[in-house]
Amino acid sequence: MNNTDIKQLASLLEKKKKIFVVTHKNPDGDAIGSAIGWGRFLKNMGHEVTVSAPNEFPNFLAWIEGSENIVLYSKEADKVKQSIDQAEVIFCLDFNALQRIDETGDLIAKAKAKKVLIDHHQQPEAFPDITFSDTSACSTSQMVFEIIEALGKKELMDAGAAAALYTGIMTDTGSFKFPCTTAETHRVISELIKAGANNSEIHLAIYDNQSIDRLALVGHCLNTMEVMPQYRMAIIKVNKKDHQTYNIQKGDTEGIVNYPLSVKDIVFSAFFREDKDLVKISFRSKGSFDVNALARKYFNGGGHINAAGGISSDGLEKAIVKLKSVLPEYEKELNKK
Ligand code: 5GP
Ligand code: MN
Repeated sequence: MNNTDIKQLASLLEKKKKIFVVTHKNPDGDAIGSAIGWGRFLKNMGHEVTVSAPNEFPNFLAWIEGSENIVLYSKEADKVKQSIDQAEVIFCLDFNALQRIDETGDLIAKAKAKKVLIDHHQQPEAFPDITFSDTSACSTSQMVFEIIEALGKKELMDAGAAAALYTGIMTDTGSFKFPCTTAETHRVISELIKAGANNSEIHLAIYDNQSIDRLALVGHCLNTMEVMPQYRMAIIKVNKKDHQTYNIQKGDTEGIVNYPLSVKDIVFSAFFREDKDLVKISFRSKGSFDVNALARKYFNGGGHINAAGGISSDGLEKAIVKLKSVLPEYEKELNKK
């Protein structure tokens, strides 16, 4: 953590302020966990805080205390506009390009408030006044804890904030297994448990709480996945009909992209989901294959080396054909041992 940035942040937060905290579209565990954890901490400091996201978060995160107060642009655009207008400080968490928050991004670009970024994705944009960017950090939630600590205000992180941050770290590290999980991650986790995060309950709430429909969807995806041994990769797709058959709810497709990587020789997995007018794509890899680079180059997306996402407006089958057509470019890299 850069000392000058921490000092600047500390002085920004010295007096009571109106604060807007926002995280990315289709928020995941780290997005909601970091935004709520940071928001609660700021409230405990005495600030007036609004936490916002562009659209709905998955049901499996709804148990997080304070998630019911998140203001969604998709439901309450006027309230979001008003909060941004009145804000003196805006915190952008777990994303680093304003395009990732749709219309909220246009409003923030024009806002007079001081802007602070806290994020761990590659290649941050230059819009913030203060940037906390650590691409080696496993999660934004870990960074939030480290910032609270560097501000010397750990006592203002209550059990609810600790549970939210724990959730973010757990989900972004694949339950502490991805290579970004370090001794520092485990130190932070230890602090969060000491501060009241109930680790076992959080695991149950996130992972052992699914519907039968969701489990059937996983079965369908595993039965229909296409494996391409030549590229050591697999493709899974979910079309509009599957949405009906498996009664797909927000968050139900999350994590399915990881299953192919549990196979010995598969190092790259792509998951395509057909939505109303767009196809959402998730990429995962194990080892050195850089899915962020591929997502940026061909699917208007980004993320991390081992986890990235993108979109396509070409339709499901065409998007898959496009990926297949670029695979030869990556054949050597995918077969590197
Ligand atoms: P997921 O596949 O779970 O949606 O996302 C994996 C990672 O890639 C996350 O860190 C997420 O923030 C990032 N990501 C997902 N979709 C996009 C996208 O369309 N653009 C960019 N820049 N990043 C994305
Ligand atoms: Mn994250």
